[in-house]
Amino acid sequence: MTNVLNNRLGGGHFGIIAGPCTVEGRDMILETARGVARGGATMLRGGAYKPRTSPYSFQGLGVEGLRLLQEAKDETGLPIVTELLDVRDSEHVAEVADVIQIGARNMQNYALLTEAGRTGIPVLIKRGLSATLSELVMASEYVLKEGNPNVILCERGIRTFETAYRFTLDLLAVPALKALTDLPVIVDPSHAAGRSEWVGPMSLAAAAAGADGIIVEVHPEPEAALCDGPQALALDGFAEYAAKVHQVAEIAGQEVSVAV
Ligand code: PEP
Ligand code: MN
Repeated sequence: MTNVLNNRLGGGHFGIIAGPCTVEGRDMILETARGVARGGATMLRGGAYKPRTSPYSFQGLGVEGLRLLQEAKDETGLPIVTELLDVRDSEHVAEVADVIQIGARNMQNYALLTEAGRTGIPVLIKRGLSATLSELVMASEYVLKEGNPNVILCERGIRTFETAYRFTLDLLAVPALKALTDLPVIVDPSHAAGRSEWVGPMSLAAAAAGADGIIVEVHPEPEAALCDGPQALALDGFAEYAAKVHQVAEIAGQEVSVAV
């Protein structure tokens, strides 16, 4: 099984990727980076380019957001996971990203997958809102065929008839994907739950299901977040959350990776 960035995720190593939905400014991203590093995260997430349902919602800080992520990496040593939304931004994103995120809405954007593959940087592909597992695996092939072996698959909830939460978290995808590929499989409980109080239990369930890691939204002040605030874990509870998730990952047979 592939292991990404010196045992931080995959190959039997369980890692937590944590950070805000969106980089909103210098203080908040540095504070979050420091907090999640201390709390046991292995990588920092944060969008500089955001796929928003409404074109009038905050779209991210773009190049300035990337610069701030670089600063957070320089200070904490945490590798950066950030989304590539458009092939035209590839060069800028590739300068900063240690893992390129392909969002759920772009899972079948084959030009974007190919471009991400060509950078040679590990690529995290989120499952499309209505994508089958075989379609997700085919998406990963677009990256692999560019000679880039470092792909991480992510279950982030799919659209079903249920409307009581944001998306239906399909945890059977974890063992099922592992039967289909050797790639690391992680879970995003935040976007499925849509509410922070459901993120903890779903994270434990994901670790129990055998996930290689979690990608989770964490914000220093969730009530003030510009994007996805209701589902963000508060930074001050992160260490306790991570410790619990790590315990379950260990029970499930994974070795826990923490920032070094
Ligand atoms: C995100 O990670 O903030 C995001 C937009 O995720 P998704 O593509 O899964 O909706
Ligand atoms: Mn988000």
